[in-house]
Amino acid sequence: MKTKTSFLIIIGLLILNLFSYAKDSLYVKVLDCGQALCCLIRCPDGKIIIYDAGDYKKESRDEVQDEIPKFLGNKTTVDLLILSHTDADHIGSAAWLVKEYNIQKAIHTGYHKGLAGDENGPTQSYLNFVHACENENVNVININNRTSKFFDTTMNFGGAIVDILCGFGKPKSSWDLTEKSKKINSVSIVMKVEYSNKSVIFCGDAVGKPSNSDDAEPIATEKYLYDNKKSKLKSNVIIAPHHGADNASSKKFIQTVNPEYVIFSAGSDKTYQHPRKRTVERYSNYCQISIDKIFRTDKGEGNPDCDNEEEWDGFAEGGNCTDPVGDDAIDIKIYNDGQLKVNYENSNPEILAQSTQCKGITKKGTQCKNKTTDQSGYCWWHRK
Ligand SMILES: [Zn+2]
Ligand SMILES: [Zn+2]
Repeated sequence: MKTKTSFLIIIGLLILNLFSYAKDSLYVKVLDCGQALCCLIRCPDGKIIIYDAGDYKKESRDEVQDEIPKFLGNKTTVDLLILSHTDADHIGSAAWLVKEYNIQKAIHTGYHKGLAGDENGPTQSYLNFVHACENENVNVININNRTSKFFDTTMNFGGAIVDILCGFGKPKSSWDLTEKSKKINSVSIVMKVEYSNKSVIFCGDAVGKPSNSDDAEPIATEKYLYDNKKSKLKSNVIIAPHHGADNASSKKFIQTVNPEYVIFSAGSDKTYQHPRKRTVERYSNYCQISIDKIFRTDKGEGNPDCDNEEEWDGFAEGGNCTDPVGDDAIDIKIYNDGQLKVNYENSNPEILAQSTQCKGITKKGTQCKNKTTDQSGYCWWHRK
């Protein structure tokens, strides 16, 4: 009897705990959508912000379009959509989002491949997004053509302060960039969200590091931020620029941000080898970040032999290693007392605590998306 009572008390406390967690917190989920970026943000007042809605190949698109409805629950409105720049790995699912949800406000750079000098013009994903916005009559701020009034750079969502630190309609000529892809990346909208004196900075595919030398001065986006927004850069969590590429996360920039946690959104695609080993080393050398505070969405099944020289050790790149999308989403929570928690979704104690509700395999014959390894009782998720 005694055991039963204490069991009920524990369950009761757990439920209370879950309620207090749900209230008054800023919740950021970085989806594991492979070599792409999609960050979902629930503000303390329940409002929803989405920073980038990228995908990379079909699996990644399925993941994004499965996870957004889960995150939004019964909500049909996205209060703010920020698209850092026009590459498909950041806007691939944006048209879908505009069709499926009521978007209150969308901000994007408008600087597409055509403007960067590509004779094929803008990509289909960009055109799809623009057309979807026209059809759905979305309040769109295209920084490039500035037909609409320039946006408020600071917004308040229930105590969460959203600050757009930079947004460009085209690269500054003083940046002297020649490569088309770099030009497009360099205009990335960089956003900071702060709550209870803790903050997360979202860097899109910002460009910032010129050469192999760590001591070289920052360039392009990171130079702009260092020169103009230095006092605002300090953030507890950084969604690292450009998936952890070596041409961003310059020493001066990351030292100014001085994060406690680093998040890399990357896939196991061999072409990119993100995040680069050198990039990770800069965060550990210049920001003293230990390995347990570095999170990556391409965390493989842990065979270090799968590694190669360019890729940060011990994870998904190279050899015969693969890393499916969907298994390494990252949760960031800031509570109203200033407590900050960062963890992989599949090791989230809150989700584990809910596992008593698990109904097991939901639909027969569907592909397993997210499997448990050692956490007994954790649900297996399946695609619809
Ligand atoms: Zn990208
Ligand atoms: Zn890009």
